[in-house]
Amino acid sequence: IEMTVAVERDITSGKIHEQELAAAREAAEEGARVKADFLATMSHEIRTPMNGVVGMADLLSETRLNTEQKEYVDTIKNSAAALLAIINDVLDLSRLDANKMTVHPVDFDLFACISETVRLIRPQAQHKGLKLTLKTLSEVPDLVNADNGRLRQVLINLLGNAVKFTETGGVDLRLSVEDTDLGHIATIEVEDTGIGIPAEKLEHVFERFSQAEADTTRAYGGTGLGLAISRELVGLMGGRLTVESTLGRGSCFTLRLPLGLPDRTGGSGSRPVI
Ligand code: ADP
Repeated sequence: IEMTVAVERDITSGKIHEQELAAAREAAEEGARVKADFLATMSHEIRTPMNGVVGMADLLSETRLNTEQKEYVDTIKNSAAALLAIINDVLDLSRLDANKMTVHPVDFDLFACISETVRLIRPQAQHKGLKLTLKTLSEVPDLVNADNGRLRQVLINLLGNAVKFTETGGVDLRLSVEDTDLGHIATIEVEDTGIGIPAEKLEHVFERFSQAEADTTRAYGGTGLGLAISRELVGLMGGRLTVESTLGRGSCFTLRLPLGLPDRTGGSGSRPVI
């Protein structure tokens, strides 16, 4: 009899435990939703006046300015861009937490998308005297199916980091596409000859606010959010983002991404599991 009672009690307390857990989970989800809504409203409210700042700074830079004034206007523009980037990152994270982030696969030209991001980052590389090269290691289909906006965001993050953390040498972006039974799979490698990442910090770079090189002072700017967002976005797109690195020699980030079957299913058909 004693044993029966004990078992019964266990079952009851187990149930209570489960109910408590479910309630806590629901509360956390609700909290994340409220936070996401709040941040969405806030970022909208901040963005509107920021557009005024950016727009006026743009107009100002087209007027006749001396070197010193040009520098001031450039600082306004760069600061505004940095602030908008932070707002977008925070907004992305809150959407991810609230499960409100969705990916929108469309058919697009992969090579054009990648060359465009390379063109976008090239001035930053040139400014530091770095070589930025794009190589294709296989045939690339004319059209692929994925969320090209989010892919672009991830590539800009990877290329931007590669340039930011490299002082000499350069950055190589390599693209290859495999044709499997379940559709195309892209492998995109971003390799740099930069400062590298210590082995013990390698996996942590994908955590929020992680900054591997932050010892006492931070020599490089940034929020430490980019790679966390990138990895989550790549996950949502069914792909994988990994890194290899040697301290003092450089890093290589590898992105594997399923590209659907644009030819056969007209879009969001089944995708290989990566
Ligand atoms: P942020 O660049 O804004 O600090 P990220 O999430 O993009 O944030 O990167 C997190 C950290 O990972 C960086 O602060 C840096 O320490 C490290 N890291 C990322 N990319 C590289 C790279 N290509 N070379 C060396 N370190 C890198």
